[in-house]
Amino acid sequence: MGRAFVYVILGGGVAAGYAALEFTRRGVSQGELCIISEEPVPPYERPALSKGYLLPEAPARLPSFHTCVGANEERLTPKWYKEHGIELVLGTRVKSADVKRKTLLTAAGETISYKILIIATGARALKLEEFGVSGSNAENVCYLRDLADADRLVNVMQSCAGGNAVVIGGGYIGMECAASLVINKINVTMVFPEAHFMARLFTPKIASYYEDYYKSKGVKFIKGTVLSSFDMDSNGKVTAVNLRDGSRLPVDMVVVGIGIRPNTSLFEGQLTLEKGGIKVNGRMRTSNSSVYAVGDVAAFPVQLFGETRRLEHVDSARKSARHAVAAIMEPNKTDDFDYLPFFYSRVFTLSWQFYGDNAGEVVHFGDYSGSTIGAYWVSKGHLVGSFLEGGSKEDYEAIAKATKLKPAIEDLTELERQGLGFALTV
Ligand code: FAD
Ligand code: NDP
Repeated sequence: MGRAFVYVILGGGVAAGYAALEFTRRGVSQGELCIISEEPVPPYERPALSKGYLLPEAPARLPSFHTCVGANEERLTPKWYKEHGIELVLGTRVKSADVKRKTLLTAAGETISYKILIIATGARALKLEEFGVSGSNAENVCYLRDLADADRLVNVMQSCAGGNAVVIGGGYIGMECAASLVINKINVTMVFPEAHFMARLFTPKIASYYEDYYKSKGVKFIKGTVLSSFDMDSNGKVTAVNLRDGSRLPVDMVVVGIGIRPNTSLFEGQLTLEKGGIKVNGRMRTSNSSVYAVGDVAAFPVQLFGETRRLEHVDSARKSARHAVAAIMEPNKTDDFDYLPFFYSRVFTLSWQFYGDNAGEVVHFGDYSGSTIGAYWVSKGHLVGSFLEGGSKEDYEAIAKATKLKPAIEDLTELERQGLGFALTV
């Protein structure tokens, strides 16, 4: 038993939604395109799950954040897919793929064949068990990757009002969930192995700006250590967190954000992998000419840096997906993907954006006791990265443009003196 499509998108997350919109704009015919997703709902803007979705008042709920509202585009509801003749195969996990035969086998036993496949399987949250700690299944331990996780987190938060939470991990999930927990009137302690949070992007100076803000909201930090075990009650609920440094923290709930792994397993041994992801060329095409990969799972050449990178951010998922569709539908009119990495976050009333690469020497600017701060990264005599907190739309556009231009920087002291003014006049 089986169905056949010209185009199949495997995965129904952010990249899938933007790819679908691009297919319709470039003239896909009714019945040609199918999206297969393990999730029970059509593609949505995943960033909402750690922000608006967790608000105690007027929280964001579907259908308000289906793709592609995050890029101020159309909102693709189930009706939209129907009207465009796009088959949504939801609540369906693909359990194996055969790229030679061009088939996918679903967990329900259906074979779906394609002429062109776009892999958009994203990533999964790393579990504590992968670091030798058990207890992930306890009812008050939460992860956050999909809608089901977000619903669970909301329920656990609501049952712990006024209680204590430990957030394990000092990355994006840790930072955004800690803020949401505080907004929900829960006392938060963040635990992470590094010297400061967001260690892979923030400098110590930037991190301490945010950590001071978090401290002013009552958040406590325990740095340089990791979880060693949980204490459980007879119902299997975590009652305390034991850390490797010997400390013990009584808890009502735990949120874990310790990184992700791209969902590549269906294609291991069939496609070339690099940097933990599926390697693609500048047209998002894999080592098999009928298979493309986009979003978190794809490792693609970033022209600006002259090397292959895998990025785990929404802007890259949106744009790589659109680029793959352009390359598939109009190969002669489509150049190689020329992407400027863009990351952002919003916590409490704060909001930052980062463009480019955080390599080389750092020049901080702005008033680190005020509300607008920033930094530039300079590598091999050129501006390669820019960070800004508290900027206007024009300011963010300016740092993006300046970073893309990669101007030569001769004098770091002068760059520091000019600060944001440098990007505004470049
Ligand atoms: P995903 O959106 O993860 O979609 C993958 C899809 O594939 C899922 O629907 C999954 O169920 C499906 N799938 C996987 N394997 C199979 C299979 N075998 N069979 C069927 N279906 C399968 N980035 C930012 O830049 N800014 C933010 O503020 C931000 N906030 C975030 C908040 C949260 C809570 C999370 C989890 C991520 C956030 N991100 C943010 C990252 C961003 O959401 C991801 O980079 C983006 O979702 C990647 O898109 P994707 O389509 O590649 O993968
Ligand atoms: P991150 O990779 O951002 O951060 C993981 C953090 O956990 C790091 O600080 C890491 O330290 C730490 N860590 C690793 N192992 C352990 C351990 N055993 N105990 C304690 N801490 C540990 O991943 P997240 O889980 O925060 O985010 C998941 C995904 O969601 C990412 O792809 C992220 O980009 C995305 N996301 C993006 C957002 C945004 O862009 N605004 C918002 C929310 C999610 P180390 O660095 O030493 O490994």
